[in-house]
Amino acid sequence: MKAAAIMCHHCGRRNCVRRHGRARSGLQRYYCSGCSRTFQSSYIYQGNEGNILRQIEALHAKGKNQMDICRSLGITAMVLDRYLYLISIENKTR
Ligand SMILES: [Zn+2]
Repeated sequence: MKAAAIMCHHCGRRNCVRRHGRARSGLQRYYCSGCSRTFQSSYIYQGNEGNILRQIEALHAKGKNQMDICRSLGITAMVLDRYLYLISIENKTR
């Protein structure tokens, strides 16, 4: 079984992420030594964040600009930037 490299949700690095116990919800927690922050696995790909990513991709595909996407999803340009970054990484690793 090959473990996928976990990307830090804060800084996007892949090579400084370590396992960091489990959250009460049972999700694996991770610690990034690159930015000294912790996060939980797989919330990018499921639940609310995953839905937003898919919606951003869909709006992008329709040719909407960043301002339109922010308005229709109710997110700020900064948040959108982070999602676009995550999408670009996700696409590169496929
Ligand atoms: Zn990090």
